[in-house]
Amino acid sequence: MNKDRKLIIAGNWKMNKTVAEALDLVHGLKLELSNVKEVDIVVCPPYTALCEVSKQILDSNLRLGAQNMSEHNFGAYTGEIAAGMLKEFSVRYVILGHSERRQYQKEDDALIAKKTLAAHAASLKPIVCVGETLAEREGGRTQKVLETQVRGSLHGVSKAQLEETIIAYEPVWAIGTGKTATPDQAQETHAFIRRLLLDMADEVTAKRMRIQYGGSVKPANSRELMSLPDVDGALVGGASLEERSFADIIKNAI
Ligand code: PEP
Repeated sequence: MNKDRKLIIAGNWKMNKTVAEALDLVHGLKLELSNVKEVDIVVCPPYTALCEVSKQILDSNLRLGAQNMSEHNFGAYTGEIAAGMLKEFSVRYVILGHSERRQYQKEDDALIAKKTLAAHAASLKPIVCVGETLAEREGGRTQKVLETQVRGSLHGVSKAQLEETIIAYEPVWAIGTGKTATPDQAQETHAFIRRLLLDMADEVTAKRMRIQYGGSVKPANSRELMSLPDVDGALVGGASLEERSFADIIKNAI
């Protein structure tokens, strides 16, 4: 597949996997995917497995991501983890503003923007998640919602930082539901987000930024989704928990 932007496929393990299970999974992925050069492959285990997974993937083409981080660098924030702490384990990416955190932890765009800036300050690449609910799509509000989320979550981010930012478009109605956006819906929405980025920055920046699709990505649909002109990878939940399905999503995308 010929695209200027390198695909990036990340597995969001959410609150799953003990350390032993995490090591088992990355051991298999390392072997399965050792020849893949066309895709940036990222695994995002829970915090508790970062240290051991980091050691296990040191000499591989797998990269490490975290699922969240604090907007603060240190201090009295019980239960929080700072960017600098993630860097100790060679974490390179961090998922920010996942819809589950927007829903359950009430994270809003202003907070996500602070986290995005804190991630860049620590040279972590943020994967900033946006996406509409079913009611918003059915009510014809998808573009308005996405515009608010994209502008709000990237407020204050410089052009140079934007280039190092990944956007994950994840329609909330497609996450963990088995429902996937149709190729037309995905392409149309990704193209809309890229036009927004052009307006916020410039053409070069917008063309360089990678926009992942997320929402029930599986081996059976990854080839078609990843071949769309404005889809530059995937953020995968459920199907990233198993070696076979995550490896096949990546192999089918090439
Ligand atoms: C996600 O939670 O980011 C996600 C896309 O989940 P799933 O692949 O399970 O729909």
